[in-house]
Amino acid sequence: MNRRETDSIRVLIVGDSPVLAQTLATAESGSLRFEVHTVPSIPEAEALLELLPPELVLVDWRLSGLEGFLERIRSQPIGRVITGPLLSATEVVRLVRLGAHDFLLAPHHPDEVLECLGRTVTLVRERRRMAGMAERLQRQLQQLSVLYEVGQTLTASLRLEEILPPIVEAAIYLTRAEEGSVWLLDETSEVLHLRIHRSRDAKTSSAAPIYPTTISVADSLLGRAVRTGRPIRLGPGTHKLDTGILVRSLLYVPLRAHGRILGVLGVLNRLQEMAFSESDVHFLTMLGDYAAVAIEKVRLFEAIQAEKGKLEAILQGIEEPVLVLDFQETLILMNRSARQHLGLPPQVQGQPFRSVVSHPDFLSLIDRKPSIGQTVRQEITLPNRLTFQASLTAVEGVGYVMVMQDITYLKELDRIKSEFVSIVSHDVRTPLTTIRGYVSLLPRVGPLNPRQQEFVEKVERAMQTIVELLNNLLDLSRLESGYALSMETCSLVEILNDAVQIIRPQAEGKQHTMVLEIPTDLPSVQGDPRRLEQVFLNLLSNAVKYTPPGGRITLRAREQEGYIAVQVSDTGVGIPPSDLPHIFSKFYRVRREGETAEGTGLGLAIVKSIVERHGGRVWAESEVGKGSTFTVLLPCRPIHSDIPSMPRVRGDSA
Ligand code: ADP
Repeated sequence: MNRRETDSIRVLIVGDSPVLAQTLATAESGSLRFEVHTVPSIPEAEALLELLPPELVLVDWRLSGLEGFLERIRSQPIGRVITGPLLSATEVVRLVRLGAHDFLLAPHHPDEVLECLGRTVTLVRERRRMAGMAERLQRQLQQLSVLYEVGQTLTASLRLEEILPPIVEAAIYLTRAEEGSVWLLDETSEVLHLRIHRSRDAKTSSAAPIYPTTISVADSLLGRAVRTGRPIRLGPGTHKLDTGILVRSLLYVPLRAHGRILGVLGVLNRLQEMAFSESDVHFLTMLGDYAAVAIEKVRLFEAIQAEKGKLEAILQGIEEPVLVLDFQETLILMNRSARQHLGLPPQVQGQPFRSVVSHPDFLSLIDRKPSIGQTVRQEITLPNRLTFQASLTAVEGVGYVMVMQDITYLKELDRIKSEFVSIVSHDVRTPLTTIRGYVSLLPRVGPLNPRQQEFVEKVERAMQTIVELLNNLLDLSRLESGYALSMETCSLVEILNDAVQIIRPQAEGKQHTMVLEIPTDLPSVQGDPRRLEQVFLNLLSNAVKYTPPGGRITLRAREQEGYIAVQVSDTGVGIPPSDLPHIFSKFYRVRREGETAEGTGLGLAIVKSIVERHGGRVWAESEVGKGSTFTVLLPCRPIHSDIPSMPRVRGDSA
């Protein structure tokens, strides 16, 4: 059936038609030439059909078995012409229904015969062409649907073991090859490793030679697909590959993703004599493109997984508890240490933080919601008595990251130190009182000369400073050790006025103007009035002390959002920005040239400690040469006075 259209047309005449046979044998009309075979009966015709498949069958309608014969050849691309004497119209219709294409009924003219046969041949050939086209279209459709299905499988999986088999199977199916394989480049791009090899069926697979699993890119045919970036096609014929294997035909296409070659997809035939077509190259290249993108995706995923694994291991290995919340406060990550210290099971990951942690210190830290890049800190004492310095940082695109540093031993050291200071101060104070008593008695037991008088005064002043220092130290250690405050509902208006009364003589002594802006209807606060007075006395006395004569000292109070804000402002020397963050630390004193003001560096530490014990905050703002403002924020509603660690605020200073 593969004869070309210019070849002679093979005609099978069934029945006794010498005239027809004669006409065809001698006919030489145009391109039509005939190779005529004649058989007398239908069984003989059927026997010949396989052997010499004809393009045209001329069959006499009078032969027995005609209907069955027409029926059998109906589906074959054979022109069917009915011969014999004239027929009735009904018979003609019946035979057409049985598949007859045309009729040559005696008597016939040779031209008529040729015209009829020419017509039938054209018809049959046209049909055959259409059938071939339909078959090709059908095949292409199948190939496209295979590609589509493979595409779907590839996008659904992130594992190389899952995506390679469908790639190779599709390659074999699309090209009808015997074998297919995928080779991937190693990191150096010098060697290709066989990642999968498949055979179409058992016959070819049992005959498959043992392939090498590593092939050098530099000097192999397979490597050429990598080096050139183009498909390699061999065949038909017999070819010996550089691996020693004999093939009839092969096709290698490079696997390329984002301009980078990852490996080679190959198909080959070792037994069947079949070359790969242009369409095979086209489809295999398409499949290769899909495959390459999928392989690249898998590799990226694997790399990300590996990185993630490393980070996880680091995070889990960190001794400090680490928690990560998203911006909606969902707990998205926590390490082993965090789980252990907070006593949380792993399954709480993914739940709202507030639904799994109820410790007030955590909640107040979260409530402070730092902005991106900012960190807020808070001391948190857990029920297991460990104290942590927790820092909460807002990280763009992630959420809030909380890292907790165990400061229990520092707290313990601090406690021991306070205890020590307290004991020493106590023990020193008693003999000091004795010395002080005797020094003050000195003038009474006999007249002192002016020099002696001067020395006694110096001793008294020095002793005054030591006593003050000791008192402050004792105060501080009491406050820090959680010594109970006597809390009561107290009026800040009264406390502030009392403090002003005490300070006024000192302020007047330096010709300062005192400005008071204290509304009489300030709400009351829950606090220890003696301690609160100490706070404002310290701040006011600093304002007087660090303001040159003739300055202005303003005491302002107002209520705002559940807090009372009290501000002590002065027009004094100010505090340099580099000192500002430290002024609330114990013993910190600002060093200024020509500074004469005496002090212990403990006043502001005491202020801070008292304010925090009241659930409040204190900070300072200052400009050198212009003055300073200290702000104390105290909550109006009752608070638990003896929570040892209260929220610390923004540097407690600046
Ligand atoms: P001191 O006993 O030295 O006054 P404080 O703890 O009260 O200790 O203050 C710490 C430091 O802060 C002081 O040495 C002082 O330099 C600075 N300071 C405090 N208040 C003021 C103020 N109103 N103006 C300028 N500096 C101040």
